[in-house]
Amino acid sequence: MSRHDPFGQRLPLLPMKEVVIFPRNIVTLFIGKPRSVLAVEEALATDQRLVIAMQRSGGGDEVTVDSIHRVGTLVEIVSFERRDPSGIQIVLEGIARVRLSQVEQGTGVATAAAERLAESPVDPAEAEPMLTVIKDLTVRYRDEKGVPSSEVLDMVKRASEPGQLADLLATQLLAGPEDGKTLERQALLEQVDPLQRLQTLAMRIRNEIDGAAAVRLVTERLRDKADHEHQKTIIKRQIEELQKMLDPEEGNEFDQFRRRILERGMPKSIEDKLLGELRRLEGMQPVSAEATVVRTYLDNLLALPWHEETVDQNDLARAEAILNGHHYGLESVKERILDFLAVRALRARTGRGGSSAILCLVGPPGVGKTSLGQSIAEAMDRKFETVSLGGVRDEAEIRGHRKTYIGAMPGRVIKAMSQAKTINPVILLDEIDKLAQDQRGDPSSALLEVLDPNQNRAFTDHYLEAPYDLSKVLFIATANYKQQIPRPLLDRMEIIDLSGYYEDEKVEIGRQHLLARQIHANSLGDEDLVMNDDVLRRVVREYTREAGVRGLERELATICRKAASGIFKEGHTPPVLIDDVLLEEYLGPPRYLIGETLNGAEIGVAMGLGTTEVGGELIQVEVVTMPGRGQLKITGNAGDVMQESAQAALTYARTRAAHLGIDVDFQEKLDLHIHLPQGAMPKDGPSAGITMAIALISALTNRPVRADTAMTGEITLRGHVLAIGGLRDKALAAHRSGLSRLIAPKENEREYEQLPARVREEISFFFVKSMDEVINESLLPKECVATSDEDQVVSTAMSRM
Ligand code: ADP
Repeated sequence: MSRHDPFGQRLPLLPMKEVVIFPRNIVTLFIGKPRSVLAVEEALATDQRLVIAMQRSGGGDEVTVDSIHRVGTLVEIVSFERRDPSGIQIVLEGIARVRLSQVEQGTGVATAAAERLAESPVDPAEAEPMLTVIKDLTVRYRDEKGVPSSEVLDMVKRASEPGQLADLLATQLLAGPEDGKTLERQALLEQVDPLQRLQTLAMRIRNEIDGAAAVRLVTERLRDKADHEHQKTIIKRQIEELQKMLDPEEGNEFDQFRRRILERGMPKSIEDKLLGELRRLEGMQPVSAEATVVRTYLDNLLALPWHEETVDQNDLARAEAILNGHHYGLESVKERILDFLAVRALRARTGRGGSSAILCLVGPPGVGKTSLGQSIAEAMDRKFETVSLGGVRDEAEIRGHRKTYIGAMPGRVIKAMSQAKTINPVILLDEIDKLAQDQRGDPSSALLEVLDPNQNRAFTDHYLEAPYDLSKVLFIATANYKQQIPRPLLDRMEIIDLSGYYEDEKVEIGRQHLLARQIHANSLGDEDLVMNDDVLRRVVREYTREAGVRGLERELATICRKAASGIFKEGHTPPVLIDDVLLEEYLGPPRYLIGETLNGAEIGVAMGLGTTEVGGELIQVEVVTMPGRGQLKITGNAGDVMQESAQAALTYARTRAAHLGIDVDFQEKLDLHIHLPQGAMPKDGPSAGITMAIALISALTNRPVRADTAMTGEITLRGHVLAIGGLRDKALAAHRSGLSRLIAPKENEREYEQLPARVREEISFFFVKSMDEVINESLLPKECVATSDEDQVVSTAMSRM
């Protein structure tokens, strides 16, 4: 789900007495005041986000613009736990510095609008020496005062971003509730120039080091006198007192943790581990960075499901009803999913083991992969979570970071488990073909461990430091493109292909599902908006051009939103009738016109078809000749395979020159320039072979290429046309663009019957074996060149009923 942009919106405001939170800072707070609890509840109910600002001293309880500092922090609630009677303990992460405006108390929750405070740009030449100085100072500070901890010191040494380093030091070195320190922290929050912040901190640290040296002399003398044991008891008591100050209502934090651990019912080895960590925590300074790490660790492990499990529904008739209820068409896909569920149900009934393959739904965006996953979860009565893998290149994203530093987190799979709160959810591994691989380890091998039934019983996440059982999870994967799924993963998968929808199907999906959903999402009643199929078809045809229906859903959402605002804001009386005029008023002038691609027959321009990640697409190939010496230049989006196809096309033209009526030694007189459009790179380079050959021959013979014809096929040096993949996707793309003829390899003819009836009716297919046939079907005689704007030769307009 995409998140709303928090900036510029009203967000709940949490005024705090002594708390200043910096971006990336992770803080645990106990919230007890009723008003503050309300603000937190509101954030939990929406986006998990709120703004925190420090109260000015002397301000009363009423929150106004003047009672708080105007620069605060946008924060996100990472986790929370309700405590009796009415408090909440929350763990927050700072997201950004913000300037607050429109502060209002209202009746319950205070709110404010937040605007991001951007950091000033940093000149690396200035930053470099400053970083060195501050790092040295921090090391000396630690030598003098024993803080920050070695982990934090490591982070400081590794830091390369001045802004982040300054914020880290501000939290670490200016901790404490004293008024002076809080105001200093606030000043550092307000300072947007990272180098200025470092400068201020450097001075501060230097002063402290000098002061500390003096204090050290005195204490050393005193310490000699004091009895060691006696001192220890005093310190312990001090820690307890401090703890009570922090958390007055709750008494002893440690007892609580102990109780929660013992009550949680986790495996014994984990329980022992957590109790061990708790003992470590007891010995730490309560407000230290280390203690925060341990506290977050305990909270994270306590929040994971260890035995909570939902009971599977194995009723196949119900599953079928749910799949049908949410999805139009897709008959064979639904059937395969039901088979899959049937096998699982059978296995559950007979108690037989055996591992099944992981379902992998493959297809362009917006064809319903995610929503099928959701339906599977609903059918089985399981929780549903998504783990998106797009662009994940770091193994740690799957397997987590070691917990030794603040901000370390478990990997994405374990996070999904915490959100699911049960040990047997359905987890959708989204875009498994987009996993990347680089020097930071190989995420696909970590994922393999997640999926392997022999290993996932004891999956090791670095953060957890303990095995976690994933064997009850039902994993489903999605991908746009099968060929890019890492091989070892592909071997474990059962692939279900979803190609795109054609126009009629989109209209049905729009009417039966998307429109109704958007009507409700925009607080309209079923009767409030009327749109007939002709108008809906116009939305499909003139405002979207896609394999799936995501764009369609977006356009329908816009229509519903505007209709709703017409009713609620401008007082129109429902129902709103969406006719052609209102459609254009709401969505603007049509974005795509049928026949737009058909500019009339041209020389040297041929229309090919490719499959890309977003489904089938038209690929226009252009060739021009110019006087030269036989050089072949290819520009635009050409991969290696495309280059090879172009060479094959050229060789074919050369060997058949005489037959084709081309000057036999054209290569000595001409340079050739092939241009392929920028944009999505087709995955099946060779299938552009015949298109390049036709564009080339057209350019050399001056015979125009029919503009109503698309073609796809691999070419051999001798001019044979070989089979291609993805005929259905390509035919849908040609149909979408209003082309009426399609040339494809003879070998693909057996797929013809499976194409949608409408596509077969409206496109004439020519299945060919040789280039001669392609030439016959696509090139016009020489004199048929279209004049600039009147085009009588080739019929380009196509009407679809
Ligand atoms: P994907 O995961 O393939 O990118 P989604 O599952 O997010 O696509 O689908 C996009 C939207 O289209 C969702 O709202 C989904 O419910 C809807 N949708 C897709 N295919 C169908 C269908 N056959 N019937 C009904 N709605 C569909």
